[in-house]
Amino acid sequence: MRKSQAERVHNPFVGFSFQMTQTTKKCDSGVGGAAKSKLIVVYHRDFASHGYPPLKDRVEPCFNHIKETGILSRENVQIVEPQPVLDELLYLVHTKRHVADVKASGYFEVAARSAGGVVTAAQMIVGGAADNAFCFVGAAGHHASREGYWGFCFLNDICIAIKHLRTGGFSEKVAIIDIDPHYGDGTRDIIGEDPSILHINFHSGSPRGERHSDEMNNLDICLPFDATDEVFISYARMAVDEAHKFSPGIVFVVFGYDSHESDYGAFRLSDEAYPRFAQAVGLRFPRGVCYVLSGGSGVENGKRAIAGVLSYLS
Ligand SMILES: [Zn+2]
Repeated sequence: MRKSQAERVHNPFVGFSFQMTQTTKKCDSGVGGAAKSKLIVVYHRDFASHGYPPLKDRVEPCFNHIKETGILSRENVQIVEPQPVLDELLYLVHTKRHVADVKASGYFEVAARSAGGVVTAAQMIVGGAADNAFCFVGAAGHHASREGYWGFCFLNDICIAIKHLRTGGFSEKVAIIDIDPHYGDGTRDIIGEDPSILHINFHSGSPRGERHSDEMNNLDICLPFDATDEVFISYARMAVDEAHKFSPGIVFVVFGYDSHESDYGAFRLSDEAYPRFAQAVGLRFPRGVCYVLSGGSGVENGKRAIAGVLSYLS
């Protein structure tokens, strides 16, 4: 029986020693959207109190807004409070020097807890305990490489989650759709040579990237700085189709809403772009999708963008 929406679940993430359940499931194709599927929303109060400014300032108001909309009260929605990942798991993705640098930055704990949230969400999805997930975080991940960090990104949460799944025996393909308008250079550095991972990377012409490789399943989608909803959605549909052809066992979405017309990143998207994107993903992948919050500092933009996605997912 599904847990009540009012029940806050403390998920005892135990790092890389976690044992996967035997039940793994491929993302289903087909139509019908994600309605009534089991959605988990990862959140911890430390993301707002200890996160990287200005990103931390959006977290609590956005989460509270989602609560006020009633989305979190739906029967099929469950809140998960994550634990920080263990160092042993971090060392499978980042160098010891990098981890030491992050520990010295003052943001290690919130970054490790943010990564723990993505790890927990991913393991719940592939283990069959959840259909989809949305992860609030206190620090972003896609600029964190094996031995470097910048742009509010300290630990590469999604790469850590993938490594966790692999360590637990998950052998299916993985797709990452990064719609943050800044280039996901850290992710590409870590998994760019792995043919079992499709990395689709929206960006706005930053010189940091463009290491495109069909063989390695890297797809860079460079849109103009003033890309509108129509441009973005048309490429998003193409990206989702590519991901669907790849037949992944789980899809991660790097959800940066700094692409909003009134936020700090490139692209000029309206509020409607985000639920439309979620719908484009959901039509191909009604389940098996893990959204991870990325860039975006505008509180009001965030409320509407996240609510739009969660309304669709729930
Ligand atoms: Zn960004």
